[in-house]
Amino acid sequence: HMSKKLGQNFLIRHSVVADIADAARLEPGSPVLEIGPGIGTLTQALAETGAAVTAVELDTRLLPVLDKTLEHYPNVRIIHGDIMKIDIEETMGHQPFTVCANLPYYITTPIIMKLLEQKLPIERIVVMVQKEVAERMTARPGSKIYGALSVSVQYYTEPEILFEIPPRAFMPAPEVTSAVVAMDVRKQPPVAVLEEKRFFQVVKAAFSQRRKTFSNTLKSAGIRKEDIQQILADSGIDGSRRGETFSLDEFAAISDAWSRLIQKQD
Ligand code: SAM
Repeated sequence: HMSKKLGQNFLIRHSVVADIADAARLEPGSPVLEIGPGIGTLTQALAETGAAVTAVELDTRLLPVLDKTLEHYPNVRIIHGDIMKIDIEETMGHQPFTVCANLPYYITTPIIMKLLEQKLPIERIVVMVQKEVAERMTARPGSKIYGALSVSVQYYTEPEILFEIPPRAFMPAPEVTSAVVAMDVRKQPPVAVLEEKRFFQVVKAAFSQRRKTFSNTLKSAGIRKEDIQQILADSGIDGSRRGETFSLDEFAAISDAWSRLIQKQD
C-alpha cells in the first residue's frame, strides 16, 4: 500500500527518471544525497552514474524493496530515517555533495529550507516539486507568487526550472503537475548584509501580511513608529510599497538600516 500521507507517488516513466539523474551532473565517486527513494527508481539511475549514493527513506515498509532493487549496487547506502531529523552533514561525512530527489510534497518547503539554512557543503540541488512551488522558487519581485521562499532560494542559490512532468508519469498519478528545479548553491550571497538573521526577519515580516503596506507590517512586527521612519529614511525605501515588490537589494538595504539603528541605540 502506498501512503498518501508520506507523499508517495512513484515515478514510473524511465525517460523522466534518467533526465532527473542527468541533471544532477554526477561523476563516478561523487557523493549524492537522495531524499525519499521510495521503491528505488531514481536511486538506481543515480547509482548507474557510479556516484556514491546515500538515500534516506522514512517508510520502513519500503526498506526490503529498496534492498532488493539495489542489491547489485555497492555504491548505494540506504538509511532509514526522517530527513527533517537526521544530521545531514554528519550523514554525508562532512564532504561537498549534491542533492537529487523526488521530494515528498507535504514537506517540500521545510526540506529545502533545512538544506539551505544549515549552510551544508552542497554544490547543486536537483529536485522534483509541484510546478506551483517551482514557480514560487524562481518568482521575481512584483509577481503575485513572489514570497519568502523565492527570496530564500534566490539568496542561497541560482534556481532554474528545467522541465515539467505530467501526472501520468507517476503511480498513483498525483493531482498536480510537477517540475524539476536545479539550484546551484552560491559561494557568496548576491547581496552583502550586516546581519543575515535580521535580513530574514525583514523578509518574514514583509510577507506575513501581504495586503499591508511595508510600514504597517513593520509596525505589526513591533517596531516603534519613529524607528520605522528612521529605517525607511536611511534605506531610501517608500513605506507605502508592499513587501512583495522588494528586490533582494532592497531587503538588504532595509535590514542594514535596521541593524545600524540598533547599533546606535545600544
Ligand atoms: N523517489 C521516489 C520516486 O521517484 O519514485 C519516491 C518519491 S515519493 C514522492 C516521496 C518519498 O519520500 C516516499 O518514498 C516517502 O516514503 C518518502 N518520505 C516521506 N517523508 C519523508 C521524510 N520525512 N524523510 C525521508 N523520506 C520521506
